[in-house]
Amino acid sequence: MSLEDLYREVILDHYRNPRNHDPIDAPDATAEGVNPLCGDEISLRLRFDGDTIADVSVTGQGCSISQSSASMMSEAIKGHTRGEIEEVTRRFRSMMDLESTSDDGLDPAHPGSVLGDLESLQGVKAYPVRIKCANLPWTTLAEALGDG
Ligand code: ZN
Repeated sequence: MSLEDLYREVILDHYRNPRNHDPIDAPDATAEGVNPLCGDEISLRLRFDGDTIADVSVTGQGCSISQSSASMMSEAIKGHTRGEIEEVTRRFRSMMDLESTSDDGLDPAHPGSVLGDLESLQGVKAYPVRIKCANLPWTTLAEALGDG
């Protein structure tokens, strides 16, 4: 199986079996994201325990890229502090070439050590119109965290 096939399998698995898909009760922060170009919708709910995201849910509809990115993001942020989430957001944006700062590159030895399944979305870079789909959950997250 090629790396490309493996990435496709990971994306489809998250699309078909989205993680953290049951809306949480009494969220501390919520945000809605829409990508009208593709018809993608993301509804994000967060519950905090101090500085940590104790629980997260993502629901929505749209293409496999937006929904799998949302599912992967929910796994990447659950149980993590704001500082850690800033780091994974920075690495994701760097991987997707959304930030061009030269020292923001992935660690080539361990590109997946922080991003995990999110690494599978790097193939999306080849399709600029799809980058908006992959990035939608992250802009929604920034809004929910008050940074957006
Ligand atoms: Zn889309």
